[in-house]
Amino acid sequence: ESFHDVDMGEIIMGNISLSRYTRPTPVQKYAIPIIKTKRDLMACAQTGSGKTAAFLLPVLSQIYTEGPGEALQENGKYGRRKQYPISLVLAPTRELALQIYEEARKVAYRSHVRPCVVYGGADIGQQIRDLERGCHLLVATPGRLVDMMERGKIGLDYCNYLVLDEADRMLDMGFEPQIRRIVEQDTMPPKGLRQTMMFSATFPKEIQILARDFLEEYIFLAV
Ligand code: AMP
Repeated sequence: ESFHDVDMGEIIMGNISLSRYTRPTPVQKYAIPIIKTKRDLMACAQTGSGKTAAFLLPVLSQIYTEGPGEALQENGKYGRRKQYPISLVLAPTRELALQIYEEARKVAYRSHVRPCVVYGGADIGQQIRDLERGCHLLVATPGRLVDMMERGKIGLDYCNYLVLDEADRMLDMGFEPQIRRIVEQDTMPPKGLRQTMMFSATFPKEIQILARDFLEEYIFLAV
C-alpha cells in the first residue's frame, strides 16, 4: 500500500513526501479512490484516522487536473470583493477549521490553489481582507460562513466540491439550520452537479437524513 497506487499528480505527490506521510491510513486507502471517481461519499471515521488528508488530497488533485481553467482563475482572483471558492469544507469548531486549513496549506503548497479559513469569535475584518486576496478552497464554521454570505463576501455558485467534516458534531452543536441554509441555497450547485463528501464519527438517524438530502447515490464507507 502506498500513495502511488492512485495517480494524484506531481504537486500532490511531492507535498505528501514533504509531509512525511509514507503509507495511507485505512480511511485514506479506501476514500481516496472513491473520491477520485467523483462519487459522493458518506464516511464514518474518527478524529485521528487521517480523514482530513483523505478528502483534501483527492479534492485538490481533481482541482489541479482540471487545470487552472477559467473558473479557477476568475473565481480566486486577488482583490475581488466577493470570492467564489471551488471547494468548501464545513467544520464544527475553530480548532478543527484551523487544523484543516493548516493541512490544506501543506497539500496546496507550490500550486495556484489558495486556501482560506473563516470562523466565529475572531475579527471578521481581518478574515474578509484575507478572503479578498483570493480563495479557491474555503474552510469555514457554519455560522461565520452565513455571515460572510450575507455580507456578500462569499458566493457558492462555483462550489464543485463540498465537504461536511464531523457532521455529527455540527448537528450536536445546533448548526443544522445554518448548514441547510448554506447547502440548500439557490446559487449552490445542486447535488449530482457538485461532489459531496460527509464525514462523521457516528451514523444516527439525523445524519442519515442529512446524507439522504445532500448526497446523490453515495458510497457508504465505515473504517
Ligand atoms: P486527522 O484524523 O485528519 O485529524 O489526522 C490525524 C493526524 O495524522 C494529523 O496530524 C495528520 O497530519 C496525520 N496523518 C494523516 N495522514 C497520515 C499518514 N498517511 N501518515 C502519517 N500521518 C498522517
